[in-house]
Amino acid sequence: MRTRFAPSPTGPLHLGHAYSALLAYDAAMSKGGEFSLRIEDIDQSRARPEWEAQIYDDLAWLGLKWPAPVMRQSARMPAYTRTLATLDTKDLLYRCTCNRRDIEAAMNAPQEGAELNYGPDGLIYPGTCRNADHQNETAALRLDMAKACKLLGAQMPLSFEETGPEHKGRHQIEASELIHDVGDIVLARRDMGTSYHLSVVLDDAEQGISDVIRGEDLFEATKIHALLQHLLGLPTPTYHHHALIRDAAGKRLAKRDDARAIAKYRADGLTPADIRKMVGL
Ligand code: GLU
Repeated sequence: MRTRFAPSPTGPLHLGHAYSALLAYDAAMSKGGEFSLRIEDIDQSRARPEWEAQIYDDLAWLGLKWPAPVMRQSARMPAYTRTLATLDTKDLLYRCTCNRRDIEAAMNAPQEGAELNYGPDGLIYPGTCRNADHQNETAALRLDMAKACKLLGAQMPLSFEETGPEHKGRHQIEASELIHDVGDIVLARRDMGTSYHLSVVLDDAEQGISDVIRGEDLFEATKIHALLQHLLGLPTPTYHHHALIRDAAGKRLAKRDDARAIAKYRADGLTPADIRKMVGL
């Protein structure tokens, strides 16, 4: 068993991150497996070296160990670019210049007759740029979902195994669901040259992750990840989505909730055992 914790260095780790990291670490240790760390820093406009340093510091304090060197997504751009080129050769990508406003406008246009629909990746794209020619403009790269499903043909419906408490079992993903409820997702953002979905799938495979343990908020995105794994000929790990740690008012913790930062508890004199207790471990 190989598990991972994959934080983005865009703020302090809080109790929710500690829970995720400890679950992944404990699961690997209980099976004599390996736990790895990955720094998800593709969003260079938000990633900060001081947050990355704090991640190492907090996790070590919690008692976690991981192999060096740590994978950093910012060093993996060549792999992301190569994969995009492969998908492009299969004619599965198209260039898109729409911003959010354009998408909303297209979906509100009376002739579309459609309302704003949200999928696991946000607004479901109405397909405006699918047949446009944006060759010489800076553009995002979208996956043509219908073509992708068609290419997978007999492999549909896809499936993945979930062991988390909320959705335990084998999940089937039909082509119609991917086409209508997920849509043509962005695989390379204009400003980044990649996307969370593409990077996470390639990196989980590169690190040989057998079990992805992460928050419940990413359960729906797993459909996208399973699709990409099939398109790219990569194995689909087992997934375990855990409940989110909430604050006293029942709201999920955000990066800006500095009050719940591990560093704050450390400064207040709490121990790693206290943190384990606070997250119910
Ligand atoms: N980097 C993501 C985050 O900070 C986690 C991605 C994942 O576990 O798949 O929320």
